[in-house]
Amino acid sequence: MRLDAFSDILHNFTTRESGGNLAFHVGDDIEAVNEHHEILSQELGYKKDALIHMKQIHSDIVHVVGEQDGFGSPPTCDALVTNKKNTPLMVMVADCTPVLFYDPTCRAIGVAHAGRAGAFGNIVANVVKTMQKEYGSKPEDIIVSIGSAIGVCCYEVGKEIHEASHEEFGYAFEKRDGSYYLDVNRIILSQLQECGIKQEHIDNSGICTACNTHDYFSYRAEGQTGRFAGVLMLK
Ligand SMILES: [Zn+2]
Repeated sequence: MRLDAFSDILHNFTTRESGGNLAFHVGDDIEAVNEHHEILSQELGYKKDALIHMKQIHSDIVHVVGEQDGFGSPPTCDALVTNKKNTPLMVMVADCTPVLFYDPTCRAIGVAHAGRAGAFGNIVANVVKTMQKEYGSKPEDIIVSIGSAIGVCCYEVGKEIHEASHEEFGYAFEKRDGSYYLDVNRIILSQLQECGIKQEHIDNSGICTACNTHDYFSYRAEGQTGRFAGVLMLK
């Protein structure tokens, strides 16, 4: 089951082409970024000012969307959940993994920014737990969509990272030519399954951002660059 199957939500992963750079903190002209948001909101069919994005800090913090949140005042966190209609949630990435969550039974959604730090901190479990606590969601009902992110083909990490984390996450490292490569999505998939998300409810893009910079922004491949996004909204 995929998010495409549901007509009562809006969901999208942007590309370079479809969304442009959506982040305000990467050196782009503020007006240009606002314009990208305006165009995207019109194309997808939501109100730009209703969009909740995040000041992402590579944490495992999940924020429950409240009245104080708005387009101009993004909360500091790496995941958002809500059960409010017409309130689009956005996660921005350029190599980190964007993860979207939808519970069609309790009508609640979540988005998460899961790079290496988010995966090591098990942010996806925090999202599922928060949806359980706030909305009564059952993991077996939740549908998950994983967008494009840097793959194990390109994500080389230093020895010290392997050293510090191989006991818990050894299964997600590959060693090639004396260097370590990390498969972040493998960790995320394993954590989602541990949470009780059904395998058939997980849709994984599997596309590597660093191998596909014509379509996606990649921090690792390009250095200073833009951010593409995952968007999810209850209609
Ligand atoms: Zn790659």
